[in-house]
Amino acid sequence: MTTAIYPGSFDPITNGHLDILRSGSEIFDKVIIAVSYNIEKKGFLTVDERLKLIRESVKDLKNVEVDSFEGLTVDYAKKRGTHVLLRGLRTASDFEYELQLSQTNNYLSKDIKTVFLITKPEYNFISSSMVREILSNKGDIKPFVPNPVYDYLMANCDI
Ligand code: ADP
Repeated sequence: MTTAIYPGSFDPITNGHLDILRSGSEIFDKVIIAVSYNIEKKGFLTVDERLKLIRESVKDLKNVEVDSFEGLTVDYAKKRGTHVLLRGLRTASDFEYELQLSQTNNYLSKDIKTVFLITKPEYNFISSSMVREILSNKGDIKPFVPNPVYDYLMANCDI
């Protein structure tokens, strides 16, 4: 049985993240989507809010678990008993960053393997930071995020 960890900030989760997660859940027996956080860094949403929104957005995916962790991803992977990481790729600049990250993780933990999935073209330009930017300028974020995220942000973000 192969379990993959899909780590990220997910602040908030977008349709692009969800697409990678869906594909990953078809490939692996189980995928753990894990919010990585740093207690000293304040995000846009709290970790609990992000987890709640991810849980509501992945309800239909039976082999997906939602979790969070602080610290190194390789240590979290070890704790969860797996050596496979899942990451998404959008652009060449993602590739540059992900290459470095993957090689660093591999240096830190020899067994770790990162599997990359390429995003669908329609999700190519979607990022959490872009969603936050549109929201802060009162633009429409509905096309970019799962419904639970849209509903929550509309109801709770008094921008
Ligand atoms: P991080 O802060 O670790 O980059 P993110 O939440 O931004 O975390 O992203 C987590 C993963 O999802 C990364 O591999 C990122 O490249 C990927 N990702 C982000 N947005 C998209 C998207 N629109 N399509 C496909 N993959 C994406």
